[in-house]
Amino acid sequence: MKMKTSKGDTSIHCSFCGRSRDEVKILIAGQDGHICENCIEHAHEIIEKEFHQKKADGKAGTLKVQKPTAIKAFLDQYIIGQDEAKKILCVAVYNHFKRINLPSTTTNEVEIEKSNVIMIGETGTGKTLLAKTIAKLLNVPFAIVDATVFTEAGYVGEDVESMLTRLLQNCDYDVEAAQRGIVYIDEIDKIARKSDNASITRDVSGEGVQQGLLKMLEGTEVLVPPQGGRKHPDQKMIKVDTKNILFICGGAFDGIDKIIARRINTNAIGFSVNKDEQELQRKNLLRFVNAQDIKTFGLIPEMLGRLPIVTHLEPLDAETLRNILTEPKNALIKQYTQLFAIENIKLSIDPAVYDFITTKAMEYKLGARGLRSICESLFTQAMFELPGTGSTEFNVDLNYAKNMFDKSKLSTLKVA
Ligand code: ADP
Repeated sequence: MKMKTSKGDTSIHCSFCGRSRDEVKILIAGQDGHICENCIEHAHEIIEKEFHQKKADGKAGTLKVQKPTAIKAFLDQYIIGQDEAKKILCVAVYNHFKRINLPSTTTNEVEIEKSNVIMIGETGTGKTLLAKTIAKLLNVPFAIVDATVFTEAGYVGEDVESMLTRLLQNCDYDVEAAQRGIVYIDEIDKIARKSDNASITRDVSGEGVQQGLLKMLEGTEVLVPPQGGRKHPDQKMIKVDTKNILFICGGAFDGIDKIIARRINTNAIGFSVNKDEQELQRKNLLRFVNAQDIKTFGLIPEMLGRLPIVTHLEPLDAETLRNILTEPKNALIKQYTQLFAIENIKLSIDPAVYDFITTKAMEYKLGARGLRSICESLFTQAMFELPGTGSTEFNVDLNYAKNMFDKSKLSTLKVA
């Protein structure tokens, strides 16, 4: 289309606003009409607005969050038990993304706050696995960081901002994606305040780090060093808004059971009860954990305010361990079966071997993580010898398992 201006001709006017030629600076002629500069600007604004809204809607659309029950069903495929933690996490995640997807134009007086989560449970009970599996389902960037590497700015260690570097690296520095990601902060209990005594020398890796984390957990714009580590003045920083990042913290909080016991005023943990009973009571106590206990443990109140959802993971008993070995979608035994199948070897395992593996894992207090080391001790020899021999079957019976285990380094571990 050829466009021409209509200089001088006073009889014509803008077909949109009706202004005549001398009321405007410019009139551009189309086939059947004209448009003035004001209307062009106005039209441009409308296009921009529409375009941005569509873009935002499109992005929100990619984060279609499933209902909590569906999220749990997904988690159930990978994680055995821990129903309580799963439910709480599903609701937290669901609400978190509901909050993110709320159109910014909504003039709602009720502001939905972030639902960062803190999970308490012994090491190896599935805290990291829960966070990782949720991120997988949602298809959002995910980073696991260890709270113990951070120190207060100015001291040897990493700045807390570098945890966002990890997140950025995991999504190829796509800032938009990272801003909707999930960060799992492990060992949060290790940055507990060392002492209530204010005269103690500066607590740079404890309370100092907690202070550093506060703003980030709440939601703020953070300047992130692209390569992590310490920030230095001439480094180019990436600005990341943590408003929509979900933080999940986890820790073993060793000794919190005693704090809970004290609070609920029981003497459940005494010297008189036997070890098994103590363990059972400890397990039950963890169910009653609340923010107050975590505060007594040494997390500062401001920090707890930013981690409003508290949940716990059950210690793993023998039955759960046995299920972990065979049930999850990528259970260890399924993985070994697959590894042998690739060599055209059919792996068969006597059920007694599963019990042997779980008993050893319990005995050596290795938790679910130990299952893998024990399996390695049983299968490595065969995985070394069998390929290329033409064998098509490999049966593991109890005798073979015991034999292999006794030969391994694991058997030299002292039972605690
Ligand atoms: P944590 O973060 O609590 O220390 P992880 O989540 O890293 O423990 O768990 C260690 C490993 O143990 C996981 O990779 C997983 O294979 C296994 N595991 C632990 N708990 C479970 C569970 N409830 N269901 C399935 N696997 C589990």
